[in-house]
Amino acid sequence: MIRTAKQFADMEPEILEPGYAGEIDTRTLNFIKRELRRRPGLRIKWGFGKDQQRFADNDIRHVALFENQHTTDCTCDWSWLTRDD
Ligand SMILES: [Zn+2]
Repeated sequence: MIRTAKQFADMEPEILEPGYAGEIDTRTLNFIKRELRRRPGLRIKWGFGKDQQRFADNDIRHVALFENQHTTDCTCDWSWLTRDD
């Protein structure tokens, strides 16, 4: 049985911890995005604006993998990310 992102998150609430989930699939991405829209505290935690409601997929993927938002000082290589937003 394929678990839904919600079920996955119930089993592993840490999924909403920046840097925990690692590389995430679309279902997990959409789950995190939905939680971000609902929870101001989570938005702050993920480095987004308190009132922000739109999130670029790659920004979420970046935090899930690297714990923080991409900056010009970031040592990651954006090339592994898909530009799908
Ligand atoms: Zn980066």
